[in-house]
Amino acid sequence: MALDLGGTRFRVAAADLAGNILSKVSELTHAEEGRDAVLTRVKSAIRDLAQGYGLDRILAIGMAVPGPVNPWTGEIFSPPNLPGWDRVPMKETGEKAFGVPCFVGNDANLAALGEHRFGAGRGLKNLIYLTVSTGLGSGIIVDGQLLLGTQGLAAEAGHMAIDANGARCNCGNVGCLETFVSGPWIAKRAAQRLAAGAKSAVLDTVGGDLSKLAAEVITGAAKAGDPFAVEAIREAGTYLGIGIVNLLHLFNPQIVIIGGGVTNAGALLLEPAKEIIATRAMEPYRSVKVVLASLGDDVGLYGGIALALSHMGR
Ligand SMILES: [Zn+2]
Repeated sequence: MALDLGGTRFRVAAADLAGNILSKVSELTHAEEGRDAVLTRVKSAIRDLAQGYGLDRILAIGMAVPGPVNPWTGEIFSPPNLPGWDRVPMKETGEKAFGVPCFVGNDANLAALGEHRFGAGRGLKNLIYLTVSTGLGSGIIVDGQLLLGTQGLAAEAGHMAIDANGARCNCGNVGCLETFVSGPWIAKRAAQRLAAGAKSAVLDTVGGDLSKLAAEVITGAAKAGDPFAVEAIREAGTYLGIGIVNLLHLFNPQIVIIGGGVTNAGALLLEPAKEIIATRAMEPYRSVKVVLASLGDDVGLYGGIALALSHMGR
């Protein structure tokens, strides 16, 4: 079984030992109802799905959860999108409820693991996964292994500082990659320019109310050819490329896989990133492939499945 727990939705899947998803459900998390209510709903969703196959046939549960998380103890530490979840023992909670081994990882790391085993990175030993959405998450596979670090906190590429005098990020640092590339920051930068007098069709879309300006609106306008919106996405793609060049020089991956909602912008985001790689990376590194993720909304589930299977020696 696999669980993908997000601040807005959670998903549960039953899978076979080859990693095929047999069935799955997706429900709203309702994080505002608090931790205990969410955990109760998650446990009953797992139970309901497993009952179709027989509860005794669950062998393990792999759980993708919002970070920070300790991947060895399976404890969650105050993720920003799950208010009140301070030190929640997910591994222990699952093992008590179902009597089988549970394995926990942060969602971006497990997405990397999912794409590595089942998606765009199949058969490759060195890959970087980036997810561009509310934040900029990442997971890094080095020599076939997920990079965890001393405390399991490795691979926060979104908080790599790339502007010494940049804006203050949620993490406390200044000029993080996330402050140029994530959806909310794309919207924030665009809103500042519009407030200063820039013209764009997105102003009509939000009825002149800049507080309603979201990355989806800008992406939509960019696809329709609005020059202001095209430039906003192009700027994000350029900074994404600058971040990727840093990562190429550090990790020398074969492939960089990019997922998350902002990738709906497609080539408008990716092409500027590729241009930066082609002109700024050291020559031997430029052969890296940069592709869109292939597992879509199921990426966290596949990550949970991959984690559980690897712990089972499969
Ligand atoms: Zn940061």
